[in-house]
Amino acid sequence: MASRVNSSFTLIPNQKHRRSNRRSSYFSNTVITDSQLLSTLGNFKALPLEIFHMILRYLSVKDVSMLSMVSKTVSQHIIDYISTSSGSKRLLLQDFHNLELPDGRQDSTILEHYRSLGLLFKRCTLLLPTKERLKYIHKTLAEVSCFKFSGCAAPLQCLGLSCYGMFLQTLTAGWDELECHRVYNFLCELTNLPRKMQAVVCSKPGSARKLELRIRLFCRNALLDHWTHRSDSAFWLTRILKPWPMVNQARLLYIIFGPISPQDGQVVWQKMIEGPTDEPSLKGLADAIKLLYDTGTKEWTVDDVISLVDELSGSQKHLLKVG
Ligand SMILES: [Zn+2]
Repeated sequence: MASRVNSSFTLIPNQKHRRSNRRSSYFSNTVITDSQLLSTLGNFKALPLEIFHMILRYLSVKDVSMLSMVSKTVSQHIIDYISTSSGSKRLLLQDFHNLELPDGRQDSTILEHYRSLGLLFKRCTLLLPTKERLKYIHKTLAEVSCFKFSGCAAPLQCLGLSCYGMFLQTLTAGWDELECHRVYNFLCELTNLPRKMQAVVCSKPGSARKLELRIRLFCRNALLDHWTHRSDSAFWLTRILKPWPMVNQARLLYIIFGPISPQDGQVVWQKMIEGPTDEPSLKGLADAIKLLYDTGTKEWTVDDVISLVDELSGSQKHLLKVG
């Protein structure tokens, strides 16, 4: 079945409203007065820029982000530092591979680094409108190839998209719904995600295995997996699914949460096609459906969720349908 993609990817609501249980922004109560906008470097004025940059090198990323809130000028100086070669080399760590510790756990240090970096960018771009913020941030992160949809040659051994997701989550935590819709649209334009999704939902399951895997990894690692609040995960999953007809939503849900092969990490379609399957391999799907059902998102009625489950469980005929 051919599906049309809404050109705006996600419908932006007319009025701003905050989702009830989203955290409030660090800055939502901050009133920026004219006197604060009359920026000053204070005692830093005496320092040449090079020395200021040297001082920044001795500060942790968290401390740099605190410093960026001192004044507009200090914040601008920090933005300038980020774009210097030494600043970007220090801040945009790219050691995303081979991060497994001897006991088999993954090293979370780099994830924590990108959490702090998300906060730094959130703070130093605070005064820009959302679109400008996103453009600036994209320009800065563009050199990190593992942050791109198909930018990494070994995506299953890479923490790049997870770090990108952690960064995005910290950046956008507490933003209102309208701004989050803008972020999703921006990411769709950047990655061409809707067109890629259209390619997989309109072809036979498993015929574009690499693309299915990339879509899964991008959606899970960059968009869905790092939220502390389930309502945030539900919001982002809704953005991914809602532009599509129900039959395609079921396909996408299976690609993103369905069972995968332990050998090559690719989506296993036989599990659904060959009849009864083992419960653990469907846990991901069950959790995703539960997320849409229990978080009380107004965009999912009980009927919607039941139809989605119907599409998935009676899915043999749909899943095998060639578009
Ligand atoms: Zn990588």
